[in-house]
Amino acid sequence: MNITDPCKKTQASITAANNVLKNPEVQTKMDAVLKGKINAPKEWSVAIGQKPDGYEVTPAIEQDSTKGTVPSSQLMNTYIADGHSHAGNPGVPSGGDLYKMIKALEDSPALRYRYVYGNYGGLPEVYAFVIDNPALAKDFVNQFPESENYDPKTHGIKEESPLGKEFYRAENHASEGRFTNSSGENYESRAVGFAYILEKYNAGISIAKTDANGNLKKINANVQQITVPNSGGKVKEGVKISKCP
Ligand SMILES: [Zn+2]
Repeated sequence: MNITDPCKKTQASITAANNVLKNPEVQTKMDAVLKGKINAPKEWSVAIGQKPDGYEVTPAIEQDSTKGTVPSSQLMNTYIADGHSHAGNPGVPSGGDLYKMIKALEDSPALRYRYVYGNYGGLPEVYAFVIDNPALAKDFVNQFPESENYDPKTHGIKEESPLGKEFYRAENHASEGRFTNSSGENYESRAVGFAYILEKYNAGISIAKTDANGNLKKINANVQQITVPNSGGKVKEGVKISKCP
């Protein structure tokens, strides 16, 4: 087995994230509830705990603003996952979603999955951050500290920061049409930016999106020379997008 293969390396954690998402308790108390909140004026969130024989899901709580709090303190069991909705916006996770999730590992070392619900053309879409290796995730934020690389005004990765330079390199290629996409899925350009930096810096975290069957599939993005679609065969730097099987 080639462990540098980005799909094989993360297959077990993506499968585990799908197993939590597909659990009937989680479907009823998180998935159905947050899909019903995608156009709510504020964000809503739930926390998920690991029970010996299944999962505990808190009631959804309405957030005060876009930088809300996960109700993990309500859990009777170990906090392993959470979910939130994006108040009418796309489901692509924010830079704040990434930094706060890694920070939460300090108090909640079992946290692995963050599901994010949003509105894509009137329909719900679901992205997730999936932690494959918490130690690598902590190394990643040590290399790219929140104070330098996160913009609290936009909740996004800060432009012109060390991390932002690479994030927006891929994001701009995706948003400006310099990409190939073999996935059959539509990804928000910021999701492409996350896929690129998380793999490039071996951050121990994947970004995934559910397919038509509701199964999370890891997103892959490489910045490389591509033949730009509809350009008459021009080869230039762009982003090659795919998903894992
Ligand atoms: Zn979010």
